[in-house]
Amino acid sequence: MTIALPRDLDFAVVGGGAAGFFGALHYAARKKGARAAIFEKGPGFLQKVRISGGGRCNVTHACFDPKKLAEHYPRGTRELRAAFHQWQPQDTIDWFERRGVALKTEADGRMFPTTDDSGTIIDCFHKEAERLGIEKHKKTELVDLVRKDQGFALTFANGLTIHAAQVLLAGGSLKANALTKAIEKCGHPLEPLVPSLFAVNVADRRLSGLSGISLENVSVTLSQGEARQGPILITHRGLSGPAILRLSAWEARTFAAEKYHLPLRINWLPTLNPQALQAAFANLRTKAGRKRISKDPLEGIPKRLWERLVEASGIDKAAVWSQLKKDAQHRLTEECLNGTFEITGKTTNREEFVTAGGVKRSSINFKTMESRHTPGLYFAGECIDMDGITGGFNFQAAWTTAVLAARAAASKQAS
Ligand SMILES: Cc1cc2nc3c(=O)[nH]c(=O)nc-3n(C[C@H](O)[C@H](O)[C@H](O)COP(=O)(O)OP(=O)(O)OC[C@H]3O[C@@H](n4cnc5c(N)ncnc54)[C@H](O)[C@@H]3O)c2cc1C
Repeated sequence: MTIALPRDLDFAVVGGGAAGFFGALHYAARKKGARAAIFEKGPGFLQKVRISGGGRCNVTHACFDPKKLAEHYPRGTRELRAAFHQWQPQDTIDWFERRGVALKTEADGRMFPTTDDSGTIIDCFHKEAERLGIEKHKKTELVDLVRKDQGFALTFANGLTIHAAQVLLAGGSLKANALTKAIEKCGHPLEPLVPSLFAVNVADRRLSGLSGISLENVSVTLSQGEARQGPILITHRGLSGPAILRLSAWEARTFAAEKYHLPLRINWLPTLNPQALQAAFANLRTKAGRKRISKDPLEGIPKRLWERLVEASGIDKAAVWSQLKKDAQHRLTEECLNGTFEITGKTTNREEFVTAGGVKRSSINFKTMESRHTPGLYFAGECIDMDGITGGFNFQAAWTTAVLAARAAASKQAS
C-alpha cells in the first residue's frame, strides 16, 4: 500500500542525524511558511549525537581560524577551508548560546555542553524543530530517489511516497544499500568506504600486561607517511589514544589496503633526537653509574614500559648505567626512538569512529553543497568523502555543510 503525504514538500531531508537536523532547522528558519520534513530510517532521531563523546557530545573544537581548522581533516581540507569562512566553531557556539545551550572548552580544545550531557543538544534540536514546524518521520527509510516534475520523487521502505522541490541527503556513513544506489543514480560516484578513527591491535611482549599505561606525547608512523604526535594509551588489545586515532585517520586508506596488518614505528621520546639521547645516556653513565638501568627510566617513559624497553634491548635487568656498552646503548636508543611493533588488526574506538569515503567531493559545489549533476539535490555530513580527526571536528563539518546546503536551498526557492 502506498501512503502519500497530503501536499508536496519544499525541502525533504533524508537522515535525522546531526547534519540532517541542523540543515532542516536552518532551512526552516530562513523560509518561514515552507514545508520541510526530516525522514529517518531508525526508530529514533539523533542517535549518534546521543552516544557521541562518551554521552557528553563533543560539539565542536575551539579553533577559530578556518585555515588551521581545515588542517584537522584528512579528507576535505581544501573544500572545508572555504566552507569554514561561512560557518565555523564560533558560529556554532553562538547558535547554541542563543538557544540557551552554553558550551565549555576543555584543556585540549574540545567543546562540550556545560551540562556534560548530549541530551541537552538533542532537546535543543527537537524544541527548535517544533518551533519552526518541521515534520519528523522516523522508521522511514529512503529507498529510491528520482528527478521528477522539477523536483524529486522520494520512495520510502514503509510505502510512503512524496514529491519534494529540493532534497538534502544527510544519511551519515554510507553502506552498500538503497541509499547509495540512489546517490549513484543521481550521477554521484562514491569514493570507497573505509573506517577511520580506530585503535590498533598489537600483540607484543613489550606491551603485554601494561594496559592502562598512558604517555603524554609520543610519535607514531607507518613505514611511509608522516609521523603523528600526541598522547597514547596502552590497552589490553594494543594501542589507542589521540596519536593512534590521528594516524588511523590520516592513513585510513593505507591501513585498509594492508588489511590492518602492518608495522608501526613508535618514538616514545619525540622531543629528543638521537644525539640528545646519547648525551643523556653519557650523563647517566657518569652521574648515576651505580643505578640499575632497568629501574631508572628516562623522563617521560613510565617505569613498567621502561623495564620492557630495556629488556627488549638485551640489557641485563641487574646492569647499572656504568656498564652500558656502545652496542647496547645503540639498541636502547632504537627502542626509545624507533621501536617497531606489528599491527595485527583494528578495534573500534569507543569514543568516536567515522567512515572515510562516500560522495566524491568533486561532484559537489562546496559553496552551496549542491550536486554538480543534479540541481536541487544537496549533501551534508558524513555521507560525503570528508572526515576529521577526533575532537569535535566531525560534528563541526556536519554543522557547516548543513548550514551551507540550507542557505542555498532557501535562497534558491526565494528567487
Ligand atoms: C560512538 C561515536 C561517538 C562520536 N562522537 C563524536 C563527538 O563527540 N564529536 C564529533 O565531532 N563527532 C563524533 N562522532 C562522529 C559523528 O557522530 C558523525 O561525524 C556525525 O554524526 C555525522 O553526522 P551525520 O548527520 O552526517 O550522520 P549521522 O549522525 O550518522 O546521521 C545520519 C542519519 O541518517 C539515517 N539514515 C541513513 N540512511 C537513511 C535512509 N536511507 N533513509 C533515512 N534515513 C537514513 C541514519 O539512521 C542516521 O540517523 C562520533 C561517532 C561515533 C560512532
